[in-house]
Amino acid sequence: MARPRLLLLVPTTTYRTEDFVEAAGRLEVDLVVAAEKPNALAEAVPERLLTLPFADPAASVRQVSDYARRYPIAAVVPVDDATTVVGAAIGQALGLRANPMAAVRATRNKLAMREALGRASVPQPGFAAFGVEEDPAATAKAVRYPCVLKPLHLSASRGVIRADSPAEFSAAWTRLAALLALPEVRALGEGASQILVESFVPGVEVALEGMLTAGQLQTLALFDKPDPLDGPYFEETIYVTPSRLPAASQRAVGDCAARAARALGLTDGPVHAELRIDDAGPWLIELAARSIGGLCARTLRFGTGMTLEEIILRHALGWPIASLERERPAAGVMMIPIPRGGILQSVEGLDQARAVPGIEDITISMHRGQRIVPLPEGSEYLGFIFSRGAAPHEAEASLRRAHALLRFQISS
Ligand code: ADP
Ligand code: CA
Repeated sequence: MARPRLLLLVPTTTYRTEDFVEAAGRLEVDLVVAAEKPNALAEAVPERLLTLPFADPAASVRQVSDYARRYPIAAVVPVDDATTVVGAAIGQALGLRANPMAAVRATRNKLAMREALGRASVPQPGFAAFGVEEDPAATAKAVRYPCVLKPLHLSASRGVIRADSPAEFSAAWTRLAALLALPEVRALGEGASQILVESFVPGVEVALEGMLTAGQLQTLALFDKPDPLDGPYFEETIYVTPSRLPAASQRAVGDCAARAARALGLTDGPVHAELRIDDAGPWLIELAARSIGGLCARTLRFGTGMTLEEIILRHALGWPIASLERERPAAGVMMIPIPRGGILQSVEGLDQARAVPGIEDITISMHRGQRIVPLPEGSEYLGFIFSRGAAPHEAEASLRRAHALLRFQISS
């Protein structure tokens, strides 16, 4: 029998092509990779490489439908945020396991997401949206403090700024408006003409990695974020799983994320949610129809060693998954904080840092000579440190020890 054909949608900005392609290689499938930019090899192997205009779902659907008449497709898997909408469109058109497109669209616009969650009374921060052309000084008087300003359509905390006073609000507004005016930011999708203002939710933050099957959310892993995320910028650093929260809080987090997924209308595929927890319980910060970003999925292993990418591919194919239980040991990842902006000259101390007990790997994702831009404007990760330990605090301690041994030479 012919092997099923799996279509992988790979945006140029992703860190995860290798991990998904490797996972596909471990399955008995014929892999077809679609990207936005034509690949030099595409003409040589037209049945294996497609060029699709991801930003135009209707055109992508037409092209894939034509292709699928000659080469039937069994599953479509979008990799990362930038392809979730086009992935849903293709999935729906071909009758594959996928989310409804309207639901995915709502996850890609922070205002639409807040409105959908609000209709279902999912606990979330208070919010209001304003046009970028509005007067910041007047707007600053209309909002309560502390608050958070954010763009509607970016990710990785890009452009997210806390303000504690009208003066801070105006400064944050000006900075965010300048970011939203950049052509490359406008090109990332609709939403660059508005600014979302939310009440600041205090408390600890967690990230939930889950899988939806016919509308049912199963938690795959819950990560604590042990470094305080109090602003003014929200640079992600350490994620550690399993969570050290009490079991009742963990259940409340899972319930809240499940309600949010339902409110948005998501039904199938990976989910990555961020929540904050205070005395009143969990508050939904964000829910995305994708798996965890960057290279952070490398912390996770399931059952007898399956990767998260393999689970996502199997799920899309409708194949059985032996176990969704995460492996026992605790695991952590540090998205290496950007110390300051400038040109990366060198990274020292890698060997010593890799030798720290519990450290599995360190990947530097920026290259020498590259300009590094810190938050709130930046969008790329300096690199990732991965650890394992008998308990969460050990995995966390290893990350901190390894990070302390790294030295980044950055020139202005
Ligand atoms: P992005 O899509 O860029 O990740 P988020 O809305 O998830 O944007 O915000 C990024 C981070 O900023 C969150 O993980 C959280 O730490 C912080 N944050 C965002 N909104 C709020 C809020 N209303 N209250 C407190 N912290 C927030
Ligand atoms: Ca987020």
